[in-house]
Amino acid sequence: MSEKTIFQKIIDREIPAPLVYEDDLVAAFNDIQPQAPIHVLIVPKKLIPRVGEAHPEDQATLGALLLAAGKIADKLGIKDRSQGFRLVINHGQNAGESVPHLHVHLLAGRPLDWPPG
Ligand code: 5GP
Repeated sequence: MSEKTIFQKIIDREIPAPLVYEDDLVAAFNDIQPQAPIHVLIVPKKLIPRVGEAHPEDQATLGALLLAAGKIADKLGIKDRSQGFRLVINHGQNAGESVPHLHVHLLAGRPLDWPPG
């Protein structure tokens, strides 16, 4: 069996990290190197290495990631349009992917430039 990803170890409670959100399909926790005042990682409990490798049977899990983002934004008080947040998914080297376990970055708490770097 291949080595668990760092995110799988957090989900399995082998590495301590307070969860910001959890349901049957996903878990969320703060990024260890935040790029904004709010930087949450939303991760599927099932290992999908990256978004382009998801399968049709992963549809519910993919939907759960975005629904979780809305719930977390609500909980953190940034859902209002006057606040706002950005969701980012990095796939592969050019995008800067560093952990091969699909995750959605939720960034907020400061104005975010566009286009991103
Ligand atoms: P990627 O570059 O793959 O899109 O994002 C991976 C993210 O995981 C990075 O923002 C990085 O800071 C974060 N990260 C890496 N290792 C850990 C860890 O052990 N704990 C937490 N909470 N975040 C991590």
